[in-house]
Amino acid sequence: MLRLEDVSVSYGEVPALHRLSIEVDAGEMVALIGANGAGKTTTLNTISAILKPSSGRIWFEGERIDQCEPERIVELGILHVPEGRRVFTGLTVEENLAVGTTRWRRRGMSMAGDIERVYKLFPRLQERRNQLAWSLSGGEQQMLALGRALMARPKVLLLDEPSLGLAPNITQEVFRTVRELNEAGLTVLLVEQDAYAALRISRRGYVLETGRVALHGNCSDLRRDVRIQEAYLGK
Ligand code: ATP
Repeated sequence: MLRLEDVSVSYGEVPALHRLSIEVDAGEMVALIGANGAGKTTTLNTISAILKPSSGRIWFEGERIDQCEPERIVELGILHVPEGRRVFTGLTVEENLAVGTTRWRRRGMSMAGDIERVYKLFPRLQERRNQLAWSLSGGEQQMLALGRALMARPKVLLLDEPSLGLAPNITQEVFRTVRELNEAGLTVLLVEQDAYAALRISRRGYVLETGRVALHGNCSDLRRDVRIQEAYLGK
């Protein structure tokens, strides 16, 4: 469904990704793990066209997308929830969700059903529907960022560090919801600093080291790999 082939990306003269090849099949949840600076965020930013690769190709459902503009990527159904949950802090919860509907509202569809679906997933957002987003807790802002992406009816979610800065019980709630969404058919590419959690909820995983794929495979195999246990799982 989504395929990166030999993708290289640099920040000016500084290389960040070196001939990276990763693949995500329809309906899969795939984890991207690795140390700080390994290139995980750069990979997501490149898929969503915030960054342009210096070489390589990116395909989505058979269409080449590495030269597309970010708006086209959203239109195709690839939704990025960036690190640091960037919600519009001066808008209410519901206004934030409405911003997410741009992809399909032009076709004259109602958004009421989509908002209800988000509220069903995250009842706290419904309780706070008229509250300004700045007044939400970190966990609620993460839910809102996720909910806003869902409003665009994505085919693929690119999730960057959803657990960052959240209390363990809130992290679990967010992961549980992501898992449910995946089980309902949504494809997910998950970047996560918590390698243990990422490898537990995903089906396959890639380990990045200095912009390259160092290892990849089924998460159950990766969890048993001694190199992963020593480097990322604290064993
Ligand atoms: P983290 O978990 O710390 O975000 P990461 O795996 O997501 O790490 P990236 O943020 O993708 O890693 O960074 C990959 C490399 O690119 C690193 O060497 C980083 O220093 C560099 N880099 C990232 N952003 C920029 C930037 N805006 N300008 C210059 N170099 C950058």
